[in-house]
Amino acid sequence: MPKYIFVCGGVMSGVGKGVATASIAKILSWYGYKVTCIKIDPYVNVDAGTMNPIEHGEVFVLKDGTECDQDMGHYERFLNTELTKENYMTTGSVYLSLIQKERSLYFDGKCVEVVPHVPLEVIEKINKAQQLTKADIVIIEIGGTVGEYQNLLFLETVRILRLQKPSDVILILVSYLPYQGEGMELKTKPTQYAIRTLNSAGLQPDFVLARGIKPLDEIRKRKIAFNCNMKIEDIISAPDEKIIYKIPLNFEEDNLGKKILKKLNLKIRREKIKEKSRWKNEIEKILNLEKKVKIGIVGKYFKTGDFVLADAYISVIEAIKHASWYLGYFPEISWLNSEDYEKDTKKLDELKNYDGIIIPGGFGSRGVEGKILAIKYCRENKIPCFGLCYGLQLMVVEFARNVCGLKDAHTTEVNPKTKHPVIDILEEQKKLLKEKLYGGTMRLGDWECQIKKGTTAFQAYRQTKVLERHRHRYEINPKYHEILTNYGFIFSGTSSNGFLVEIGELNQKLHPFFLGTQFHPEFKSRFLYPHPLFVEFIKSSVKNEKRF
Ligand code: GLN
Repeated sequence: MPKYIFVCGGVMSGVGKGVATASIAKILSWYGYKVTCIKIDPYVNVDAGTMNPIEHGEVFVLKDGTECDQDMGHYERFLNTELTKENYMTTGSVYLSLIQKERSLYFDGKCVEVVPHVPLEVIEKINKAQQLTKADIVIIEIGGTVGEYQNLLFLETVRILRLQKPSDVILILVSYLPYQGEGMELKTKPTQYAIRTLNSAGLQPDFVLARGIKPLDEIRKRKIAFNCNMKIEDIISAPDEKIIYKIPLNFEEDNLGKKILKKLNLKIRREKIKEKSRWKNEIEKILNLEKKVKIGIVGKYFKTGDFVLADAYISVIEAIKHASWYLGYFPEISWLNSEDYEKDTKKLDELKNYDGIIIPGGFGSRGVEGKILAIKYCRENKIPCFGLCYGLQLMVVEFARNVCGLKDAHTTEVNPKTKHPVIDILEEQKKLLKEKLYGGTMRLGDWECQIKKGTTAFQAYRQTKVLERHRHRYEINPKYHEILTNYGFIFSGTSSNGFLVEIGELNQKLHPFFLGTQFHPEFKSRFLYPHPLFVEFIKSSVKNEKRF
């Protein structure tokens, strides 16, 4: 003890390594072990915070304010846990701490070399996370795909740790099997190449999780096993699954948990039968849901070439699912392009086809006027509307313009010269930007929020103090608090000093659900434990009398 499981990817990225890692963690926890997950991202950025969503997808935020990869969200959602910065590293953060050590003479005059010093630094970080979480088993997901140049030092880390602790380390390859021809045969050769690439890095995988649109049959399992020195039972079929939370159960059907424990010389410690059957029952319930709830997300499209990336809002999507399933509804989620409303306001009528609308977080000016039009439409037509971060800020802009009569009200993020900067940047943030200190300097992570009784927010939370995760620079301008409240905008959540607005809403007598949060509740929603605000939003969406 402790034991280490590395997970790496073969053939191509984006095949669900993060969900596989989270699922493995889940099944091992059902056998009574304390498990934690670490994500290693191979890029040089010190964290994910400085990256464009087109490059990176969603930036997930941890309670301590770490801006990281969306896979960290999967780990938290599956394990129902809260992770910290120790569970995340990048090439950049590893080099940064190594160089800081070198500058402080930590190495005592020695030459600091890429190998072994970089892998040893990675191992030190892994051990720190293990100690902090007191995990029996640490699962480390190596981002990217084997064969990429930037992965090499992390594979070297696996090799060295295995050398140090031969019976405590295993390696799992999550590989993709493309299909070919009329018979849609899954092809094994790319995976064989991926295993050989691992071999040339001095590694042999203990398991292969064979991802593909279909299950992998025995003949092809045998092919991989024979050509790659593996046992057939160690090739695990991992076909696409509509509900990702079913994947741990699929793995268990293959006895993956017990097989992993055996390789790590571990016995079942304490089987958590109740927990496992609760998970199983929930999946069965979801698969049989008949009632539907239609939710539209009004965002800007994230296009790369001919493709649109949906995973920029992955936590929002998961939070909608958690809450809808909990209430017994199957969510149908649609992408609505806010830029379309700018071109043609008649298109706004499509919003009537939805039970509820979400205005998600975002940055910059593209699509903003369209989002403001959508908010106005939802407010006037009493369609449940939930604003997240930028969503709240734009709700305030809309309300200031159309209800308070401050015609050119805006956020200074879009119009720095507006006469009515209802959303503005605080002094301390201005200083940071002047000095170009962008990385890790927004209002980040957990902040306390006080909830006002008698509001929709209180109806959801049923408590007066909560912690929620933030990621923004701008705030509702305190100079406009009075006029906004005078016109009926209720500040139902405020920071502990009462200075900053955390939640804004309209009275339920005026609107069934018109509420926005300065924080991102989606980061704290879990499978089986939905976020109270999302539950409240879905509740009012299914009550929406305009339901078709
Ligand atoms: N762009 C806004 C800000 O920086 C909102 C950010 C967000 O939605 N996460 O305050």
